[in-house]
Amino acid sequence: AFVAPMRGSDDPLAPWRAMLVLSDETSIKRADRMRADFLANASHELRTPLASLAGFIETLRGHARNDPEARDKFLSIMLDQTERMSRLINDLLSLSRVEMDQHVAPDGEVDLAVLAGEVIEYLRPQIADKEIGLTLEAPQRALAIGDRDQLTEVFLNLIENAVKYSDPKSSVLVRIEPGRLRDEAERPESMLGEGANRRTLAAPKSGTAERYVTVRVKDQGRGIDRRDLPRLAERFYRVGGQKSGPNEGTGLGLAIVKHIVHRHRGGFTVDSMPGAGSVFSAFFPEAAGAPENSEN
Ligand code: ADP
Repeated sequence: AFVAPMRGSDDPLAPWRAMLVLSDETSIKRADRMRADFLANASHELRTPLASLAGFIETLRGHARNDPEARDKFLSIMLDQTERMSRLINDLLSLSRVEMDQHVAPDGEVDLAVLAGEVIEYLRPQIADKEIGLTLEAPQRALAIGDRDQLTEVFLNLIENAVKYSDPKSSVLVRIEPGRLRDEAERPESMLGEGANRRTLAAPKSGTAERYVTVRVKDQGRGIDRRDLPRLAERFYRVGGQKSGPNEGTGLGLAIVKHIVHRHRGGFTVDSMPGAGSVFSAFFPEAAGAPENSEN
């Protein structure tokens, strides 16, 4: 029998190949668009404080030159702006560093109980003004497989947020739980009681680990609306489009945490209740050889 060849091609699979190429192209296009969006956002975020600096320099050269009071005020605003820019650049660098080694899982052993204690002592003086009670509940040891610097960054970001989005004199609790099965790590009993909303921000790859060490940071702060939860770990996302004032965050902290968690083959969830507080939980594969009863 005579089978007519496809027009323009004698490869019977050509239409399917074309479809494959097409869908490949869309994912490349999507990645391109995300990169372009990211660059546009980053440039915008950097341009804002820069424009304000230029404005103040102009004013200082002009009529504020002979007004010491105005000069001091402007200089301190300018210092805030430069600090904001350097926070942003630091966060952008962290993000690109984690992205670069995304495909290489870390292989060190890190004791999260010890690390949490160190980060808390480091932060204590910086948050002293706010009189927030910062406590750690941890076992003697909680060995996870990870990269020490990046795990430090997870603690810093989560604890700094808990403090930033809480009223003075409230409490922040950091809890480390070793030996958790995936289900226990992913769906722990809520620490906020009934009515809290939960969202998975990063799911662990199945089959990566038998047990996990969970890091939970609980605050009594403003909480987060259910509708905002899914977008929290997007780059530059801030609830309610919070003004990018000099002391505001960069909107990159949770995106960085999410990438670090992914690289560690761990998971990341949030529980929150507006007006009552939030609990952010990140969990990491436990190091083999961690004692079964490491909780005591
Ligand atoms: P930022 O640098 O703005 O804090 P993040 O990526 O760390 O950026 O957080 C994104 C947004 O999520 C924040 O702008 C804030 O609106 C919200 N958020 C993060 N942590 C908390 C928290 N503990 N309580 C309430 N809101 C939070």
